[in-house]
Amino acid sequence: MRRVLATASELFVPRVCKVCGCSLGRGEGPLLCLDCFVKLPRTAMHTAPTASCGINAVQERLADGPPLLLAGAWFYYSRNSPYTALVRGLKYYGRPSWGVEMGRAYGAELLADIPDLASRIQVLLPVGMHWRKEISRGYNQSERIACGLGETTGIPVGDNLRAVRSHATQTRRSAEERRRNVHDLFHVEHPHEIHGLSVAVVDDIVTTGSTAAEAARTLLEAGAASVSLFAIGLANS
Ligand SMILES: [Zn+2]
Repeated sequence: MRRVLATASELFVPRVCKVCGCSLGRGEGPLLCLDCFVKLPRTAMHTAPTASCGINAVQERLADGPPLLLAGAWFYYSRNSPYTALVRGLKYYGRPSWGVEMGRAYGAELLADIPDLASRIQVLLPVGMHWRKEISRGYNQSERIACGLGETTGIPVGDNLRAVRSHATQTRRSAEERRRNVHDLFHVEHPHEIHGLSVAVVDDIVTTGSTAAEAARTLLEAGAASVSLFAIGLANS
């Protein structure tokens, strides 16, 4: 019901750019005007090598996490940037469709750079949200992003990566505290469904990387052949 209400309330949002506030012209939007779309601070990391070269900033953020097949984030996420409005709307102001739109746009760019993406990744798995939090928010924003990504890339979206408990924010913790905070946070509901598959974790913002690293570890332990990671934002460290 919360999700229905959130979606219904979005029908009455005026057609303006969510970043600069200007009215959207024909062919622009639904989130960004052409100028803000062009100026989005893209990381373009998804084409950078991951495991060994140490030049992929998304992979590097996972610190002691497992090597990823592909690792990407749509844009650099900085607290002072006007582009944070996109993520705040999605996470805190009940705008689930923004997640779908961002996922669609990022998916189109992934596909343009990696045309064989759908043959390299067999399933997208949004980072699970504890059921209590999902009820209070009305939706899981990572699931909304994954739906958009799935639409434009043609990769199916699964719901196998469950959060078994809620966890607090990671940013002000030490590396050791972060590891303990996320230890055994996730559970793969049906391991046989991902056994031997190349899967991709879908997250909203990669900040410390601890949560994504734990998700990747859990999926590999459950039998995934490889894990990739696609996020909307890579927080400035
Ligand atoms: Zn704009």
